[in-house]
Amino acid sequence: MLVVMQQGATEEQIDAVIGRLVELGFNVHRSTGVMHTVLGGVGGEEKFDLEVFEVMEGVKEAHRIVSPYKLASRSFKPGGTIVKVGGVEIGGDRVVVMAGPCSVESRDQIEQSADIVARSGANFIRGGAFKPRSSPYSFQGMGEEGLRLLREAADRHGLLVISEVMEIAQIPLVSAYAQILQVGARNMQNFNLLRELGNQRMPVLLKRGIAATVEELLLSAEYILSGGNYDVILCERGIRTFETYTRNTMDISAIPVVKTLSHLPIVADPSHGTGRRDKVAPMARAAVAAGADGLLLEMHPDPDHALSDGAQSLRPSQLEELMPQLRLIAAAVGRSM
Ligand code: PEP
Ligand code: MN
Repeated sequence: MLVVMQQGATEEQIDAVIGRLVELGFNVHRSTGVMHTVLGGVGGEEKFDLEVFEVMEGVKEAHRIVSPYKLASRSFKPGGTIVKVGGVEIGGDRVVVMAGPCSVESRDQIEQSADIVARSGANFIRGGAFKPRSSPYSFQGMGEEGLRLLREAADRHGLLVISEVMEIAQIPLVSAYAQILQVGARNMQNFNLLRELGNQRMPVLLKRGIAATVEELLLSAEYILSGGNYDVILCERGIRTFETYTRNTMDISAIPVVKTLSHLPIVADPSHGTGRRDKVAPMARAAVAAGADGLLLEMHPDPDHALSDGAQSLRPSQLEELMPQLRLIAAAVGRSM
C-alpha cells in the first residue's frame, strides 16, 4: 500500500505513519520527493481499513497499489528516480551513454576502447569480464584480470565503469572495480542473485530477459528494490520473436511503457537488440527519441577480430558519427547529452 504525505508534513507525522505501518506488519520504504513524502508498505496484513491512515495527521491520501510490483511502480515515486553514479545522473535531463566492447580482451584492446569512448563524450565504459555465452566453448571472459584492465583504462580516461555480474559470489569482486553492476538478460530471473543485489548499496543495471514481459522485468526490479537498494536502472535489449533477420527484436515501445508504469530509469541496448552493427545507430536514435535515459552500446576498436559480439559492435568511426546525431535528437525531445 501507499501513503502519500501532505506537502510540509512533519517528521513526527511521518514517523507516526511509519509506526502504524510497522504495527500492521508492513516493511516500509520511504521515498522523499520534492513535494511529497511517499511511504510504501509491502508484505503487511491483507485486510485493514485505508481510513486508519487517511485520518492520520499529515496524510494526504492512502491507497492500495494494484500492480503486482509495488516499489517499482510509478505511483511510489511519481517524479521519477535519478540514479547518481560518480557525478553522473541517470534518469535526469541528460541522456547518458555507456559504450565499449562486449568483453575485455586485452590491455591494448581496452585501452584503445577507453580512449575512443572518452573522446566520443560518453561517460561510461562497458566491458564484460564474466561472459554469459550460449556455448561453453566460446570465450568466457578474462575474469578479475579483465576487471583490473578495465578499471585502469577507465581511470586513465576519466570514465566510469559498468560490468556484468553473473553470480552472487562475483558481487564483491565486480563491485571493487565497477560503479554499476550489470545483470544480464539470462539472469533477469535469477532471484537469488537479485535478492543479494538488493542487499548491496551499488547501482544495478537490470537487463530485460529474452522472453520476459515488461511486467516480469519490473517484478525482477522489485526483488532488488525490496531489499532496500533503490538504485536500479532498467535496460531494454531486445526480445526473441519469430523474426530472424535481427538477433533480437528491439522493443522500442518498452521505453515509453516502462516510463508510464515505473519511476525507474531505462536505458536501451540496440547492440544486443539488433545483433547487426548497421542497425545499431538507427535503433539508438529511435531509443533516444522514445525517451530512453541512456544507451548501452557495443563498440570495438577492431570489431572484425572481436572475441565476442563483433558483428553488432560499432566501429570507432560509427560511434563518433552517432554521438552528434544523438545530441540533436535529445535536444528535440527536451533532453541534453
Ligand atoms: C552484454 O551486455 O554483453 C550481454 C551479455 O548482454 P545480454 O545479457 O543483454 O545478452
Ligand atoms: Mn555482448
